[in-house]
Amino acid sequence: MTPPDNPQEPATGGAWARWHAAHLHDYPPAATRLWLLMAAAGLAAMAWALASLRGQDPTTLWPVAAGLGLVAVAAMFPVQIPRTKHTVLVADVFIFTILAALGAPAAILAVGVEGLIGTVRTSKRLSSRVSSPSAAMASMAVCAASYSGLLHVLRAAGLSDEVAALAALCMVAPLQVALTTGSLMRLMAVKHARSLSLRDWFDAVCWIVAMTLAAAFVAGLVQLTARHSGPAVLLVAAGLVFALVLLTRISLARLESERQGQEAKVDEAQREAELSQQRFTAAFTHAAIGMAIARPAGAVLQVNQAFCTLLGRPESALLGQAFVSLLHPGDAAQFQRQARESGLTRNGSEAGPGQAFSMELRCNAGDGGELWVALHCSRFDDPGGRGQHLIYQLHDISSRHLAESRLQHIAYHDSLTDLANRACFHERLDAAVAAAQGDATQRYAVMFLDLDRFKIVNDSLGHVAGNELLREVAQRLASCVRPNDLVARLGGDEFAILLEDLHDADAGMRLAERVLQALSLPMSINGTEVVPGASVGITFSDLGYRSAEDVLRDADLAMYRAKAEGRGRVALFDNSMLEQVAEKLALEADLRHAIGEGALSVAYQPLYFLQPYRPYGFEALARWIHPQRGPISPAVFITLAEESGHIEVLTDWVLDQSLAQLARWQRQMPEADGLTMHVNISGRDLARSDLVAVVEHLLQRHGVAAHCLTLEITETTLMQRLDVALQTMARLRERGVLFSIDDFGTGYSSLAYLSTLPIDSIKIDRSFVMGMESGAQNVEIVRAVLNLGLSLGRKVIAEGIETPEQLATLRSMGVPIGQGYLLSRPLKAEQVTGLLALSLTTPAEPAVSPEPAAIEVADARATANAAVAV
Ligand code: C2E
Ligand code: CA
Ligand code: CA
Repeated sequence: MTPPDNPQEPATGGAWARWHAAHLHDYPPAATRLWLLMAAAGLAAMAWALASLRGQDPTTLWPVAAGLGLVAVAAMFPVQIPRTKHTVLVADVFIFTILAALGAPAAILAVGVEGLIGTVRTSKRLSSRVSSPSAAMASMAVCAASYSGLLHVLRAAGLSDEVAALAALCMVAPLQVALTTGSLMRLMAVKHARSLSLRDWFDAVCWIVAMTLAAAFVAGLVQLTARHSGPAVLLVAAGLVFALVLLTRISLARLESERQGQEAKVDEAQREAELSQQRFTAAFTHAAIGMAIARPAGAVLQVNQAFCTLLGRPESALLGQAFVSLLHPGDAAQFQRQARESGLTRNGSEAGPGQAFSMELRCNAGDGGELWVALHCSRFDDPGGRGQHLIYQLHDISSRHLAESRLQHIAYHDSLTDLANRACFHERLDAAVAAAQGDATQRYAVMFLDLDRFKIVNDSLGHVAGNELLREVAQRLASCVRPNDLVARLGGDEFAILLEDLHDADAGMRLAERVLQALSLPMSINGTEVVPGASVGITFSDLGYRSAEDVLRDADLAMYRAKAEGRGRVALFDNSMLEQVAEKLALEADLRHAIGEGALSVAYQPLYFLQPYRPYGFEALARWIHPQRGPISPAVFITLAEESGHIEVLTDWVLDQSLAQLARWQRQMPEADGLTMHVNISGRDLARSDLVAVVEHLLQRHGVAAHCLTLEITETTLMQRLDVALQTMARLRERGVLFSIDDFGTGYSSLAYLSTLPIDSIKIDRSFVMGMESGAQNVEIVRAVLNLGLSLGRKVIAEGIETPEQLATLRSMGVPIGQGYLLSRPLKAEQVTGLLALSLTTPAEPAVSPEPAAIEVADARATANAAVAV
């Protein structure tokens, strides 16, 4: 191959250009030139060496061949120093031995061989396989010349041959290294257009120089020994060196494989750790649940996308924040307490991982609103070994929470007024009672309110109006109490207010007055002006209550007192009210015994046809003479029996007595056959499933025709329980029993309603009859009821006739039947018997013409009055 004239423009074709493109394509012109120079120098050195050897005696070539062979073998087995890039080339020992023993040509070829084998091992590129041996051979040519020069100088200086050779070898060895590596590094620097600093060069050659020096020294010693003991030493030394190399290589190889094994393990562990970290990061980043990592002290280190989305804030706004600052202020304290108790805060940092806690709380959402989340917090070891961190997992439970709080709201609120309901009130009151028990200064008061005019509105204007009234009252109550007071609707028209943090009783009373005042202002319902009005009972915690029930009971009692005292007022509970209740309870017990022991009696008040005047029938009225208290008004004990659930037994008893009595009279006097017995039944009786059976049974037992029994139901009761009443009434009417509507005119049912009611007679309430004298209005009402009743085919009975004038008026109007003290007071059965015998045979006129019969009747009445307290 011929180098081109101008190596800077080599790519114009030709063999060189192709060769350059194939092997030196990455060599810029300067590097190419340098490479060519080195190759030429190497080739020249090699040519010179070969030429010198050719001229020698063939026998002297054997040691050269053996030497080159040794170098070749040794170059194939470099000893790599573990954990470094450095190798120990034993071949150098042979090379310097060859230089000293066989001369420069052999040494040049030996470095050429070593260089070639070395680059064949380490590089695939022809350029390197040429440049390395060339650099070595050229350097060796310079070294060999220096060696023989030095040898002369040193010998001349008086050193022995052996010492001079040793010294000269040690001197040229660094030169050899310096030149070889220096030229190769220069080539690389030029190729990569880098500058080559002395320092780089020194760093690179330092180790090689040391090794080469050692090799030269050993070579010198071997040479020295060989001079004294003959060339066999060379063989021994060669064998020794190879054995040494072999053993070292084996042991180093073992060490190396062990090291590699260990490194592989470490690598594997590292890879696993990296993978695990990557998996963690992926799980963290892509988790659908919001996650944040924070230091135990609180600062947020990392958040995932779901977390940012959940809180509606960018990552930058979250990182570095104290985690607790992301929570709703109302829940932060609870969160910190939980964290402390679970040992997850700074103080608990000695504790191991695995501690965790979960809770539901509110977070501050980015839009300023609040957000309910389920939070789970646990401790974990940072995979990067940076201690322990806390990981928070959050998911949105706002919608569930909303549904729950709606349910909670429904469970604790009255749907009509949206006030708290009874259950809610009870719960809060329970807590207040417990608090006051522990600390008497935690004073509270409870107001119990009952609307004075709700029933009237409800009955006269309808349910819708009633509801409107309740809603308006609720609003007024809520607006006149303090924000922390609890207003509740307990049911119907009953409200209660719990006042907490009360400094004194006066404050409670003032609030009660304010409430009353708020309810005394009129409101318009369906165009009608209505004043709701209320009676308020109030009680205070100072009485040392132990249960919410007791508090409510007393406030309720006080409210009854307020009602009894004339409505529209506040009554403060006192213990006398409890005494009244106790008394009532005792009376109730006595009544129960009285009913059981048959201590009650029945009085019979006759009813008369007014024109002509003759007996129509009786009204059976229960009587109770208490052994200690004397006569008790039916208004009292009937109410008591109704409240305590004894009314059914009482009704049955009165029915039984009165039917038995009627049967007796009918048997005694055939004229009494057509008389009818009126028996009062209460609202609770109408709801009984067995009333029909009981009535049927008693009629049968006493042999009384069903049409001789009239059951009286007050208008109020009937209107209150219309649905149940209608069913029971229908079944009894099928069997022939008659019904009368009692106290008509007091129950707010409209006259128009009368036509639809399944009744046979109407009893006009005595208040209208008694009021006839004082106002024309009452007369008109009586007339209207009479006319309507008659036109509907109902019998009309006027109650409470006390004066002859009333009787006269009623007669003039055409009222067919009457009842009242003027006609007869309620009488004992035996008194009635006499009276009956008289009036059935000789009709009497009560007040109009006091005939003897009437006087007798009057006497009988006098007896009756003494016996029967009304
Ligand atoms: P009521 O059904 O309206 O009975 C008539 C009441 O008026 C009786 O009062 C009677 O004594 C009274 N009375 C009769 N004529 C006159 C009069 O001219 N002037 C005045 N001022 N009063 C008169 P009593 O007996 O006190 O009964 C009161 C109420 O007790 C009754 O009113 C009735 O609702 C109830 N009652 C009485 N006995 C029974 C009973 O056995 N069962 C039920 N469920 N209720 C009863
Ligand atoms: Ca009655
Ligand atoms: Ca009545």
